[in-house]
Formats: sequence, C-alpha cells, structure tokens
Amino acid sequence: MKSSGCGLRLFISAFCILLFVAGYFLYRSISQRGLSVPVTRFTRLREWFDDPAGHTDWAIRAGERCQEAAFVYPTNGYIGFIWGDSFRPGHRHQGLDIFGGEEAGLTPVVAAYSGYLHRLPEWKSSVIMRIPDDPLQPGRQIWLYYTHMANANGTSYISPEFPPGTEEVFVEAGTLLGYQGNYSGDPDNPTGVHLHFSIVRDDGQGSFRNELDIDNTLDPSPYFQLPLNSQTNRDVIPVCGNMQVQGLDEQDS
Ligand SMILES: [Zn+2]
Repeated sequence: MKSSGCGLRLFISAFCILLFVAGYFLYRSISQRGLSVPVTRFTRLREWFDDPAGHTDWAIRAGERCQEAAFVYPTNGYIGFIWGDSFRPGHRHQGLDIFGGEEAGLTPVVAAYSGYLHRLPEWKSSVIMRIPDDPLQPGRQIWLYYTHMANANGTSYISPEFPPGTEEVFVEAGTLLGYQGNYSGDPDNPTGVHLHFSIVRDDGQGSFRNELDIDNTLDPSPYFQLPLNSQTNRDVIPVCGNMQVQGLDEQDS
C-alpha cells in the first residue's frame, strides 16, 4: 500500500513537471512565431488615439518616403499593427494597420507605388494595384492592397475616379485613392478608423493570391525601409530611422 501510494505521488509529480515543460515549449514556440501582439502596441495605440497631436513624431505622412525606400507612405498616421502580429492563435496579420487619428472619411490614402488599379464590382472599401515589376525583385509581379476605405454602413470613401469594376487604370505613386474608414462588413461592429495595407503575391496567372493568408503576402519592411516585421520588431515605433534596430535584432536572433 505504502509503496504504491508513493509511486502514485511520484507519477503525479512527474506528470506535473512534464505538463510544465510542455507548456513552456508551447509558449516559446508560439511567441517565437510571433503569434501574439506585444502589449506595448496596444498601449501606444491608446496613447495615439488619446492625443495624436502630442505624438506627431510617431506618425508617417502620405506621399513622403524614408530615405531611398521604393514606396511612399500610403496615408497619414501611426502604424499601430505590423506584419505578423497575431490577434488570435493560428492567424497572423498580413499587412499594416495605419491609424490616422481622425474621424472616418478625412485621412487621405494615396498610391504607394505607380501601377494599375483594380476594384472588383462588389468592393465597397478596397482597391488593389498591380505592380508589373517588383522594385526589389525585378521581373516579379506583385499587388498592393488597400482596404477599410468606407464607413460602417459601407458607403465608400474611394475616389469617384475608381468606381466598382475598375480594371487596369494606370495610377502614379502619390495619387489620391480615397480616405480612411471603419468598414468591417458589420455595421454594428465597425473597426477603428484606419487603412489596412498589404503587399500580395501574384498567383502566376495574372491575378493576386488570397490576401487573408500571410503566406500570400510579403514583409513590407524593405519596401518602406521601416521595421514592420513583428518577429523582429517587438516594441520599436515604426518610423524612419528605426530600421537599424530591426537590423540588429535580426543579427542577434
Ligand atoms: Zn489590418
């Protein structure tokens, strides 16, 4: 009796240790894959919303570019969430969320690079631009996706030059595409006012891949010369001049 009780206790202790170790490795693998959003991103976003004018040094400005970057900034505001941030297990953010800090319909959205604009007939808040020649990998075709350019009810803020069904209209970098909105598809549950921007891979047949999967998108960091990759940028404000920090992080890990 005594020895079997002791064996049971030993078994339970070993089981607890095993659970603890397994939990630790699960946690580590999850955080290493960037399946989380650092707390600093939420606290900074709240500070930005509370006082945009007090944090102008956190913001990018539409049409400007960082040093020799290929892309100009597509809008004004604070880049609150970056490529690879995860809001729920198994999902990683495929682009950038840029918060203008203004009401819906006011903050301009411009083309980050020259290309050919498409808007599917059913798109209320989105446009996508075909870039025949990726500036960082010549010969490769990529697509730039812009969304949330409508109000909560789906009234579009996209420039009237680009009505639903637009195809292959050439647009220069810096051209006004529309304004930031809060359209989510559910009028009772709008997003915060922002632009979601992503770089989407081509499907090899002249169209774009499904933007909702991060594997179909590209890290925007080198295109903007900003630290926009969640795996390497955990708490640096993504503004021009901070790229070096991400570079150092990459060498360390
Ligand atoms: Zn987004």
